[in-house]
Amino acid sequence: MPQFVSDEEVKEQGFFMKRVCAVTHMFDHVPLAYTHSYGCQQNVSDGEKINGMLYRMGYDFTDDPEKADFILYNTCAVRENAENRVFGNLGALKHLKNRNPNLIIAVCGCMVQQQHIADRIKKTFPFVDLVFGTHVLHKFPEHLYSIFAEGKRVYSLPESEGVICEGIPVKRDSKFKASVPIMYGCNNFCTYCIVPYVRGRERSRNPEEIISEVSGLIEKGYKEILLLGQNVNSYDGNGVDFKELLKKLDNLEGEFKISFMTSHPKDCSFELIDTIAESRHISWHLHLPVQSGSNRILKLMNRHYDIEHYLSLVEYARKRIPELQLTTDIIVGFPGETYEDFCETLELMKKVKYDSAFTFIYSKREGTKAAEMDDPISEEEKGKWFRELLEVQGKSGEEAYKKYEGKVLRVLCEGKGRTDESLYTGKSRQNIIVDFNGDEQHIGKFVDVKITKVLNWALVGEIIQ
Ligand code: SF4
Repeated sequence: MPQFVSDEEVKEQGFFMKRVCAVTHMFDHVPLAYTHSYGCQQNVSDGEKINGMLYRMGYDFTDDPEKADFILYNTCAVRENAENRVFGNLGALKHLKNRNPNLIIAVCGCMVQQQHIADRIKKTFPFVDLVFGTHVLHKFPEHLYSIFAEGKRVYSLPESEGVICEGIPVKRDSKFKASVPIMYGCNNFCTYCIVPYVRGRERSRNPEEIISEVSGLIEKGYKEILLLGQNVNSYDGNGVDFKELLKKLDNLEGEFKISFMTSHPKDCSFELIDTIAESRHISWHLHLPVQSGSNRILKLMNRHYDIEHYLSLVEYARKRIPELQLTTDIIVGFPGETYEDFCETLELMKKVKYDSAFTFIYSKREGTKAAEMDDPISEEEKGKWFRELLEVQGKSGEEAYKKYEGKVLRVLCEGKGRTDESLYTGKSRQNIIVDFNGDEQHIGKFVDVKITKVLNWALVGEIIQ
């Protein structure tokens, strides 16, 4: 059973917010917060909660750390270079703290949930005031208050399987696109991945809470809802599974689009594909991370599916949803991968012809099983394989998008063009990027666009009135 944070504890954090607010009201200016979230959508969503709490506690926001009274890095542990960036950025804050000893510096998120990282911050960056882990996000007001009240550094990194906390205020970055976490944590322990160690065990929010949040967002005019979870296909909210949750959300009235990420192929069912095919609002987009085309490597990765099963899902999805955009993630150079294994990945790419693929060279994460495996292939060799893969994918992307030439797609306009600054941009129901000749007033609205040009990563077209 997921451990829900009690109403009493949520109320208690509300009191701490009021206390911090009383402190910030005594400042001779409106205090400014600079916050930055690294990494995945889940982290960005946590960042919106942190900003929601800061806003309630009397803070306004700045993009300039030099002007801030409070600086927070919400970190990611998935890649080593993101961690190195955080260390670099933290080091650069020392002069700000010297200039303004009242500045509060905080670090939270997946990276600090690893003990060796928290220890390094404690030792190397004594000017960091607050470090808190992923399981105590809801206690941020209490921790901030104790810094004001006691003037001591706070380190809060309890061991936990993870909790669910409802009722944290959220300050969303967009007025028309919203992320809604439906579950947290992961039970899958893919051997290359640190997430289960830093985000705890899989736990699902109650469907009533999700439906009420999504319908509230739609009432406020939100047009795109992104449902988040490490493996949405294993959502289980009091016996309601993911396809049932999608059906309930699809029954809501209004013009909006529902997307979700991420789908694990081992739990993606034919029924889920049917649900997408029969829906009114769900994106015709399936992001199905295959990671490797070799069954031997999939086993070493602990992925619990084989290529034959994966291909059967792809075939069914393409049959049921003819306009499906199919995307994937690929890891090149997993420990023990041979050129023959890699060629199987190339073959798979040629066979499936993905619309788009996120490809990565394997990056070692301390604390995972893969970090202990033999990895004899040089970085140079892996780089060569990687470029080979990009070439194959580049061709597939353009071919896959050709079918849209001359078609009319309904697009949610998001802002200035990606291919050309004089154009506007948005995404279609397939979640394909579409640039077109719009204007400011289209932002946040759906428009019909006739496709006139096809690139390998986007479409370009003209609005139809
Ligand atoms: S499913 Fe695998 S890759 Fe995804 S978060 Fe869980 S362990 Fe990591």
